[in-house]
Amino acid sequence: MNRSTIWHPFTQHALEPAMKSIVSTEGAFLIDQDGNRILDAISSWWVITHGHRHPTIMEAIRAATDAYDQIIFAEFSHEPAEKLAEGLIDVVPAGLKHVFYSDSGSTSVEVALKMALGYFHNRGEPRDRIVVMEHGYHGDTIGTMSTGERGVFNAAYEPLLFGVDRLAFPETGREQRTLDMFETFCRAGGIAALLIEPLVLGAGGMKMYDAGVLAGLKAIAERHGSLLIADEVMTGWGRTGTMFACEQAGITPDILCTSKGLTGGALPLAATLCTGAIFDAHVSTDRRKTFFHSSSYTANPIACAAAVANLDIWRSEPVLERIENLMGLHRQNLERFAGDKRFANIRQAGTIVALDLVAPSGGYLAEVGPRMRQQFRERGLLIRPLGNVIYLMPPYCVTAEELGRAYDAIDEVASIVLGKV
Ligand SMILES: *Cc1c(COP(=O)(O)O)cnc(C)c1O
Repeated sequence: MNRSTIWHPFTQHALEPAMKSIVSTEGAFLIDQDGNRILDAISSWWVITHGHRHPTIMEAIRAATDAYDQIIFAEFSHEPAEKLAEGLIDVVPAGLKHVFYSDSGSTSVEVALKMALGYFHNRGEPRDRIVVMEHGYHGDTIGTMSTGERGVFNAAYEPLLFGVDRLAFPETGREQRTLDMFETFCRAGGIAALLIEPLVLGAGGMKMYDAGVLAGLKAIAERHGSLLIADEVMTGWGRTGTMFACEQAGITPDILCTSKGLTGGALPLAATLCTGAIFDAHVSTDRRKTFFHSSSYTANPIACAAAVANLDIWRSEPVLERIENLMGLHRQNLERFAGDKRFANIRQAGTIVALDLVAPSGGYLAEVGPRMRQQFRERGLLIRPLGNVIYLMPPYCVTAEELGRAYDAIDEVASIVLGKV
């Protein structure tokens, strides 16, 4: 048995080979202990946006360490957190007015759920139901697991998870069914919030749906006085082609969660933004109406400085042009798979591309993912299929040549795994 001292995340230590150490990172690459350059085609679990070690962000981190380490964020504030809050309010959909900091995507969603319930509680009209979408993923804490898709990943913890109402995924042509379900849940009453990943359900298999559905859901929520929580932890910072995915639906959610790309992926940080109404419901001379939430590392100044630098990059560099360019490269590369029987559901949302490998189902299916992952690694690529779903989500600095290599590898690896080579 492989008795690893470090217990790695989402890792079956009995089956995984010993891990290589990464000694440095650069642009779209990880460099391992043997000097191999591995193309990071999934942005190190979706966090790296511009590229690894962007000089502006690295410099901001160095500068921040001259002044700060961690500072308690009750009783005190600091400039990096304030500049960041102002900058965030400027770039998120108009109408979000307040910023609550935490340190991961999961905590940003936990904060959102607490804000939603606190809002109704403090107004003296309690609501406690949360509606989510089938195949959703919102994190790995008990609360966020409760709102995510149930399955092998959380079977052991099921007894602790709270109940939610689940909308059917809006498959193309069946969008109205999803909207009707939400309307029915709302009519039954007690719905505090709809928690949803806008446009792309990430960990649930890169499932993509139309912006019109999101706009429709927002309209229904509004009509019933329920809140919309947009979990933009993965979709934020340009991944879907706009800075935030909600923009494509022309909506402002009541609460927006952001993390992964917030610091360009350099340091852990999260923010939950909300409307004035939600903040106001917690403002009272009655201390019982306080928003009772904190993490020890709330608004770490060094992480905030990294996020301020990320905002500077968005302001001063042609990031959206880079994203447009990457979207075009994806489209060109995908042409080679048109009509290819090895793949189904070839899809793209901005910089994210996904294809389902048409593999025989059953026990074999479970092995397809790890087998492909191994094959990609042998070709110098970090690509981690979700079961039979192969996806690419590279940092925006990736070149045409590097991306081409990823597509060549998908072509080859699919054939090998399907036993056609
Ligand atoms: C990754 C992710 C999370 C959880 O973020 P962590 O930083 O891993 O806790 C939540 N929601 C979505 C949509 C995510 O993709």
